[in-house]
Amino acid sequence: MRKITIAIDGFSSSGKSTMAKDLAREIGYIYIDSGAMYRAVTLYAMEQGLFNSDGIDIETLKSRIRDIHISFRLDRDTQRPDTYLNGVNVEDKIRSMDVSAKVSPISTLGFVREAMVHRQQEMGKAKGIVMDGRDIGTTVFPDAELKIFVTASAETRAERRYEELKAKGQEACYDDILKNIKERDCMDQSREISPLRKADDAILLDNSIMSIPQQKEWLMKQYLQAIR
Ligand code: C5P
Repeated sequence: MRKITIAIDGFSSSGKSTMAKDLAREIGYIYIDSGAMYRAVTLYAMEQGLFNSDGIDIETLKSRIRDIHISFRLDRDTQRPDTYLNGVNVEDKIRSMDVSAKVSPISTLGFVREAMVHRQQEMGKAKGIVMDGRDIGTTVFPDAELKIFVTASAETRAERRYEELKAKGQEACYDDILKNIKERDCMDQSREISPLRKADDAILLDNSIMSIPQQKEWLMKQYLQAIR
């Protein structure tokens, strides 16, 4: 069967990763969470002390961007890909509120985007890939055969993130999460390079009142139509 490229973009915590991961597993495609890559760069900058009272030490980060190696490896128990930063599993760390609060400024930086987009395009060369993010259908894979743009109300998304963090035993405050989601929406949509926007040929999905199985079924239908 012919392999295609599937781009799933959308707002923070819109459930796009869950949908994308499930679809990839079911159809035997590679799944890449591009947001995890920007989160890993952010964690790197935090661990290297590149955030200071003046903001980000951009020059140092720029000079070290090639030293930031990000990879994904399947966790045998969860059957989900974990993110590795320079060989260390950082899957839990990159989901923390600390990283969430700092990731959008990092992802506005042109050299960071250039490096990540290049790596993402390399990963997708052979097709057979589902990638989710903010600019996958617009910048990374503008020729993707199937593009989806996912949205839901900010409150619904904050609720989902809150439940996700709590389930992992991580500290979570609903109001902080909602504030962070709104701030990231704003920054992601208004940045100069590759702002978050629906590609003209993307299919819009508002999943505010959809269950996970319903979304899964909907996405599978879109896939089957796309490969026809
Ligand atoms: O998808 P997730 O919420 O984990 O993404 C974290 C952040 O990474 C986003 O808020 C956005 O600033 C950035 N991002 C991006 N481009 C992508 C994926 C994520 O700028 N393709």
